[in-house]
Amino acid sequence: MPLDRRRFLRTGALTLGAPALAGHLAPAAVASTARRPRAPLPDSFDRLPSGSVSPRGWLAEQLRLQLHGLCGRYEERSHFLDFDTTGWTHPDRGGWEEVPYWLRGYVPLAVATRDQAALANSRKWIDAILATQQSDGFFGPRSLRTQLNGGPDFWPFLPLLMALRTHEEFTGDERVVPFLTRFLSFMNAQGPGAFDSSWVSYRWGDGLDTAIWLYRRTGEAFLLDLARKMHTYGANWVDNLPSPHNVNIAQGFREPTQYAQLTGSAELRQATYRTYASVLGAYGQFPGGGFAGDENYRPGFGDPRQGFETCGIVEFMASHELLTRITGDPVWADRCEDLAFNMLPAALDPQGTGTHYITSANTIDLNNAVKSQGQFQNGFAMQSYQPGVDQYRCCPHNYGMGWPYCGTCAPTSATSTRARRAPPHCATSSGATRSAWSGRWPSWRSGCAICGSRRTCGTRASAATPTLSAGRSKRSRTSWTHCEKQPASSKKSTAVHGRQDDPRVH
Ligand SMILES: [Zn+2]
Repeated sequence: MPLDRRRFLRTGALTLGAPALAGHLAPAAVASTARRPRAPLPDSFDRLPSGSVSPRGWLAEQLRLQLHGLCGRYEERSHFLDFDTTGWTHPDRGGWEEVPYWLRGYVPLAVATRDQAALANSRKWIDAILATQQSDGFFGPRSLRTQLNGGPDFWPFLPLLMALRTHEEFTGDERVVPFLTRFLSFMNAQGPGAFDSSWVSYRWGDGLDTAIWLYRRTGEAFLLDLARKMHTYGANWVDNLPSPHNVNIAQGFREPTQYAQLTGSAELRQATYRTYASVLGAYGQFPGGGFAGDENYRPGFGDPRQGFETCGIVEFMASHELLTRITGDPVWADRCEDLAFNMLPAALDPQGTGTHYITSANTIDLNNAVKSQGQFQNGFAMQSYQPGVDQYRCCPHNYGMGWPYCGTCAPTSATSTRARRAPPHCATSSGATRSAWSGRWPSWRSGCAICGSRRTCGTRASAATPTLSAGRSKRSRTSWTHCEKQPASSKKSTAVHGRQDDPRVH
């Protein structure tokens, strides 16, 4: 009988993370990395509003399958998505991350496909959610007000704020910006306990993205103060790897670069590159763009029989898209594409009606049985394609943002000559075919495995092609080879970022 996955994660991740958390920066050091924020610097790309890009070809087909498959029809299967009983529309009822996860994918799916029924359904949900806001800015399930350390648990709100942003960008709904301003003002009024523990502490990168999005619309000064709190009290991703959990890493590693939008710190940006290289160097030894994290990464469990959680796949993609926009470095677009064309298709059955919990590069038996040879950390069956409402719970609710974000939220408007060279990857793809594994090596092999950048330590072998209309193989030949031979400092980097002391759960 599998453990309750969420209870296991809370216990396991926090226990495993304890030694790393002991290395969290002292307050004085935190203050030094959290220099007073200022108005955000321009990103390398301007992100086009949702709905600006229309998918074609292969991507359009994936979105069609998604609309008529698991994401588009998940209300019919998931009791968490019952409009009449969820706390997100009826605050006296309960609710957590499932509705926010689902809407974060469903709303951009409706926008990308222009499906009128899905757009109307999105509107119905958003109207009901907006109507739950209280006078102090809080909204949604009342129980979440006191769920974390006696105060609000902001984690499940963060994906929902992103869904609201997509809706606002596409419809121009004038209720959304004031709604978000009131809610983030409520957030800013909370003490450190609302920021420094549980899932949300690892995932404030999502909050930073919304705070900066809102600041660029309103210029409200308190949003900069809120961003500083997120960075200061949230988990330290700067010179530490605070969690071995695959989804936390996939979401969290970008946070320093996001905060650098407000400080201009090159040191913070490098922290993101360094963490990616460290984790992928140790646990990314299989194709597809992910890393071995089934549930946490574990020393000794890094070969291609391990797996990467579906949530990890789409969160990693979202991180890479965001980093492409901020840094203008096309290596992040390449890494996103690696996941979008390889690991994400393999995470779904051919018709897109089921997903599994983890995707392994090397596995022969996707049956609904607990693997018995100690391969995986979790003790429940994780590899059969299922609607997975309760068996997998997070992944089938969360996977929906993968392709809609990749295709329609990708940064496609450059603000500098340098950034203009990066490709808009998935948005115009048409030549690729849907297959489980392409045989491509993870893209970090063709980029700089240490710093991730080509600007500071070498030159790329060829310019990136502007679109994928000729198929992805052409772009995959774009390679940067200068740093494939890792310098001696890489071991030191791994020692700093990799955790060598994780106990094996199984
Ligand atoms: Zn998941």
